[in-house]
Amino acid sequence: MRVGILALQGDIEEHEYAIKKAAEELGINVDVIRVKRVEHLDGLNALIMPGGESTTIGSLARRNDLINRLREAIINGLPTLGTCAGAIFMAKEVRDSVVGEIGQPILSVMDIAVVRNAFGRQRDSFETDLNIEGFGTIRAVFIRAPVIVKTWGDAKPMASIKHPRLGVTIATAQENHMIATAFHPELTTTKVHRYLLELALGRR
Ligand code: GLN
Repeated sequence: MRVGILALQGDIEEHEYAIKKAAEELGINVDVIRVKRVEHLDGLNALIMPGGESTTIGSLARRNDLINRLREAIINGLPTLGTCAGAIFMAKEVRDSVVGEIGQPILSVMDIAVVRNAFGRQRDSFETDLNIEGFGTIRAVFIRAPVIVKTWGDAKPMASIKHPRLGVTIATAQENHMIATAFHPELTTTKVHRYLLELALGRR
């Protein structure tokens, strides 16, 4: 199994560790490909887009044709996990909680609307227990995280969080072969990475 990790900016190593551990738990072999150029997309069975800074990831992906080829690969069915900035990059609608819409480069592949930096600044980052449908409870780390404010079409919420200021918002959504998490599963659990591998194996 070949799993690509978009490796332009963000927490690439943490995802590499999590996906290797998830594969070990499932008893399968994975080759991890760090995706920096279009040719790295060849022959992938799954793709991860890490957290980081979505505006940076977007503008680096736009420098060559990578943004278009990524979009094509995902639309054509490549099982994909986007975490935090990666989830923002996958969304069809993006706005920032302070500056609104800035027209940042996005893939626009998933029927979700996200608000960036929804919980506030870096110091408002937090951890909490989160119940994800079908996964049970996991520890979730939100680092200057977005929230998913809306899903439509085939996209379905999988986990929600209740926040004192924001009320109940969506922390995880799935649309067919695509999963978006507002938090960072790679830091605390292999469950989400295992789920991605199972999607790629056709077991989900
Ligand atoms: N705040 C970042 C953004 O808007 C996301 C933060 C993260 O990936 N941990 O892109």
